[in-house]
Amino acid sequence: MTKPPGTFEIKDTDLAGRIGKLYLKNGVIETPAFFPVIDIYRQDVPPNELLEIGFKQAITNAYLTLKRFGDEAVEKGIHGIIGFKGVVMTDSGAYQMLEYGEVDVDQETIINYQKRIGSDIGVILDVPTGIASYENAKRSVVETGKRAEEAIGLIKDSDTVWVLPVQGAGYSDLTAESAEIARRLSPHYGMLGIGGLTSYMEKYDYLTVVDMIHVAKRILPGGKPVHLFGAGHPLIITLAIALGVDTFDSASYILYARDNRYITDYGVERLDRLEYFPCTCPVCSRYTPKDLLEMNKEERTRLLAIHNLYAIKRAIDRAKQAIREGRLWELLEETSRRHPSSYEAFRAFRKYRDYLALSTPYVKGVVRGLRLYGEESLWRPKIILYRRRLEKYLSGRRVKRVILKPYPEKAEECPRYTDVEDEVLVAYYTPYLGIIPGELCGVYPTIHFNYPEREVPESIIEEMIDYVASLVRRLYPDATVTVEEGSGWREKAARILRERFS
Ligand SMILES: [Zn+2]
Repeated sequence: MTKPPGTFEIKDTDLAGRIGKLYLKNGVIETPAFFPVIDIYRQDVPPNELLEIGFKQAITNAYLTLKRFGDEAVEKGIHGIIGFKGVVMTDSGAYQMLEYGEVDVDQETIINYQKRIGSDIGVILDVPTGIASYENAKRSVVETGKRAEEAIGLIKDSDTVWVLPVQGAGYSDLTAESAEIARRLSPHYGMLGIGGLTSYMEKYDYLTVVDMIHVAKRILPGGKPVHLFGAGHPLIITLAIALGVDTFDSASYILYARDNRYITDYGVERLDRLEYFPCTCPVCSRYTPKDLLEMNKEERTRLLAIHNLYAIKRAIDRAKQAIREGRLWELLEETSRRHPSSYEAFRAFRKYRDYLALSTPYVKGVVRGLRLYGEESLWRPKIILYRRRLEKYLSGRRVKRVILKPYPEKAEECPRYTDVEDEVLVAYYTPYLGIIPGELCGVYPTIHFNYPEREVPESIIEEMIDYVASLVRRLYPDATVTVEEGSGWREKAARILRERFS
């Protein structure tokens, strides 16, 4: 069913990530979605091949289109000019301004041009921050806000969906200020964006990128799709999806290809340094690195670009499936370790726990056990949600005696205690969840989790002890506490817990 352009329906969520449907005048796209950049001057991959790979959307530059084609693009439409049947987003040329200084076009001209060439999604002429001094960053925030305000009259009643980019990259306070402006003006815009971070991504400064996304996303209205400009590597795309970014664009796939560079899940490699392809996409299944090196430049560039697109697509599809299964956190634990920069950025997610917990469903249709590995698993929003619920459940109850039992080695052996005396709490102590009241054994997620039982990290046991001791003392200060012991980690844990309660 077709709906007004800009309609955004959220189908599923996990952490702050979501799967959505975005309605545009030339089609509906499912998000998270990547928009490959189509170079208006030179198309190494025929645009309709993008559709075959699975990209129903692409982006090109309206400013460069204006320079090269002028009114011809108005007659043929942008879809006709680039030869792409899917959804077409156009950027305003603001990025050229960042690269080459001023652009010789004003906002009214470029907005009207995007409307006239029939862009599905257009961008106002914002002022990207890039890597800038505080003063210049501030100026880009103020100027972008001013232009966003001025653009309202130009974009109203348009069937193009308009993006209002947030600026202030590198400075939390300026990013917040810019996001506040965007929130205020958001009723006039179909989409919001986060700009100016491309240089940070190119330098692998993913920590700054995730911090800026977090600052902006906490302020931006949750119901609007958010675009991240210039994100073209699987490592950052996965992190950004988890923080609630819905769409991405980048020219990286083609720029790397022209430079004989190959995107891997763990970075970017030079083709001549590869002996094997760590990928099974149609290109990599058919050719070896040596085959590609022996081809002519044009063919090699095309094939490398196609592989690079598959690498990006794989990251997006994997994240979507993880959202469906409620295991996006596990995917981050696993994939962030592929590069020190993404791992550093993921470590910062512990500071975003409350934000991430807001949109993490506690239970999904299909129950999947939690896989827990180490310190980062403790920061998982589902653990926070469990502990919050647990505390609510236990507080206000009169308890004179607490019997702490070790969680059994096999979850299915976790007996449920239903007929305990009044004012007695029987509970299991366990790594990660902390405490499980005996009567709740079997209720999600009390037996639906998995951790390296015989090799639990020391720090996880210490955290459990601190958590259990302080929770029991805080809720039931006068209760007598008995701690039962067991084998493995349970033995030492019981001894320390007894000391804490004596
Ligand atoms: Zn491949």
